[in-house]
Amino acid sequence: MKSWLQWSIDNLLPRHCILCGYASGTTNICAPCSDELPRIGDCCRKCSLPLADPGDTVCSQCEKYAVPWNSAVAALVYGFPVDQLVRRFKFSRSLACGQLLAQELTRAVANRCIHPPDAIVPVPLHRTRYLARAFNQSELLARHTGKHLGVPVYPGLLCRRRRTRAHSGLDAISRRINIKGAFRCRLTSRQHDYVRHIALVDDVLTTGATLSECTRALQAEGIRKVSIWVAARAPEPRAQPDE
Ligand SMILES: [Zn+2]
Ligand SMILES: [Zn+2]
Repeated sequence: MKSWLQWSIDNLLPRHCILCGYASGTTNICAPCSDELPRIGDCCRKCSLPLADPGDTVCSQCEKYAVPWNSAVAALVYGFPVDQLVRRFKFSRSLACGQLLAQELTRAVANRCIHPPDAIVPVPLHRTRYLARAFNQSELLARHTGKHLGVPVYPGLLCRRRRTRAHSGLDAISRRINIKGAFRCRLTSRQHDYVRHIALVDDVLTTGATLSECTRALQAEGIRKVSIWVAARAPEPRAQPDE
């Protein structure tokens, strides 16, 4: 049940759309802007890249180079206006933008995820970056999705062993070198017994370097199945946000 304060905020204070600024009722985005969000439909089941031919199930990249995880769900194409939403969420701490991205991710997962995971794990930030930013955007997305799908979230299961350079401006090979061996997985003995399938959550999937390393760290601890859940998928490696 909503609190009196939340009910009042929702009903007495009309909100404004975070994209166009017009009144948007009780939501953070107006209906026309919501209808125009670039939601991903037919896509590669391995990396969630939108596919030109709906008859395909895997993109040409995934046919050539296998990804280490089992499947991926991405909600939106990373381009205008989604890039703005991600940047405002990450760097300006816009919780309204984060909430919208989380809702889109939850919807995409609910529509496409056939087998729910045993646990959800956000991609961790290094401690120094966490202290500078004051929050981990992936953890907020993971918590929202976990709450709505009824799946536990374990933010401490993966940690960064060392600080890495921001990925903005690095090509795919440099990203791989930069992130290699950066993560460690710590499962309790109880988690070892029942956690077989983990969904890794991040804000954006670009080259996949970070998510590949996280997947390998989980697999090294015996996790058999890893699903990738991201709010946005870069349509090609050129669009490179900070990871
Ligand atoms: Zn709008
Ligand atoms: Zn693919």
